[in-house]
Amino acid sequence: MSLVEFSVADIWQVATERLQQQIHITTYEQWFQNIVPVTLNEKALILGVSDDFFADWLKDNFDDILCDSLKDIEGSDYSYTFKSGYLPEKEKDKPKDKVKVKAAKTPKKKVKPANCLSRHTFDNFVVGEENRYAYAATHTAAESSGLYNPLYIYGGTGTGKTHLLQSVAHHAVESNPGTRVRYITCEEFLNNYVDSLRNKKHSEFRTFIRNIDILLVDDVHMLANKTQLQEEFFNTFNSLYNQNKQIILTSDKQPSEIKGLESRLVSRFESGVTTEISIPGFETRLAILRMMQEEHLVKLSDEVLQFIAKNIHSSVRRLQGALFRLVAYASAMSVADIGVEQAEHLLRRLLEEETAAQLISIDSIQRVVAEYFEIHVSDLLSIKRPRNIAQPRMVAMYLCRKLTDFSFPEIGSAFGRNHATIMNACKQIPNLCSKDENMRRSVSLLEHKFKS
Ligand code: ADP
Ligand code: MG
Repeated sequence: MSLVEFSVADIWQVATERLQQQIHITTYEQWFQNIVPVTLNEKALILGVSDDFFADWLKDNFDDILCDSLKDIEGSDYSYTFKSGYLPEKEKDKPKDKVKVKAAKTPKKKVKPANCLSRHTFDNFVVGEENRYAYAATHTAAESSGLYNPLYIYGGTGTGKTHLLQSVAHHAVESNPGTRVRYITCEEFLNNYVDSLRNKKHSEFRTFIRNIDILLVDDVHMLANKTQLQEEFFNTFNSLYNQNKQIILTSDKQPSEIKGLESRLVSRFESGVTTEISIPGFETRLAILRMMQEEHLVKLSDEVLQFIAKNIHSSVRRLQGALFRLVAYASAMSVADIGVEQAEHLLRRLLEEETAAQLISIDSIQRVVAEYFEIHVSDLLSIKRPRNIAQPRMVAMYLCRKLTDFSFPEIGSAFGRNHATIMNACKQIPNLCSKDENMRRSVSLLEHKFKS
């Protein structure tokens, strides 16, 4: 046991010295320099990074080397976890050539909205078919506050929701520096709320959050099943809404599909403009890569960019991850040119995961079946028994069993039922298909939809 108490900064100091001996200075500066040693929990360091993507990427690419650097420091081994939301101090001083080249404008004093990454602006957002409407809606909401109220954007992970939300914040403070704009994740909202209760500062929290001109709340699906938080959120929402203040929300699902969200919130969220955002197609993915590449000193060939755009299609975040991996490799190893074959080798894990990500999920079956029969996913999950709901529910269960590798109990729990119900559905549907031509056609159409 060590007799000396080490602070998180002391340990991180040792680790970073070791890291600098192991990796190229450019890589170190790019990835490690801005990490903030936050605190020490027993033998675990909490390290602050800008966002989840950064954390995931570091973990994916440098976990081994980071763990090694934390071993045997004055006789103790340490572990680490990342915490996002720590913006690098020097973000604002970054050289101008790292930013996408735009027509020169008269330099303005930049006011940066809190909690927002500086590159999350409308200018840095590449627009394609799949995100055009979400882009247009957020842009309009930013220009004409209160026109679309609330604006609700939903879509899968890594499709650009946070980017668009923070773009509104940048736009607002740039066009009118007096605007009180607040970007906050649902989790931060929860933490601030809980802290305010604990510190007996609840009324200050309320006054603050209800005196905002534009409230941007990221990932509101996290409200699910948190009754007290939903109450607070409902009141905040109403207060801002009644003052005609702009509210923009993002989520991974439509309001009605968030399990455990009170119906009064569902109806509030649905009362304005709701728009979906999905992963962009090949051309847009390529354009995004070309734009992101501007931020790096190392340039990859267009052939390699096309290879990435073609093979990584599940999220823009992963697209960015693939580009970073190659760029970091090229700069760490001082390799001038990476070919497609080498890129394929370096990205093999990401590519394997892409294939896995393509596998059909229970969620997607529930969504598509609900859409097809024009009911809500929540109906599929409910205990309602009318035929127009019970039959689609059985179809969804049957397709989950047929098209995925999930077991009866796993499918059962995704529907809030037991395994016997799923087994029964799997028996009933072929029976129904043999008697009812409409049912047979629907099931075969749906199956075809998934397989293609
Ligand atoms: P989400 O919040 O939907 O999970 P993010 O907004 O965090 O996704 O996007 C993930 C990453 O991809 C971010 O770095 C973001 O800047 C980038 N990104 C997503 N869509 C675009 C786009 N259309 N143009 C440029 N960058 C994008
Ligand atoms: Mg997000």
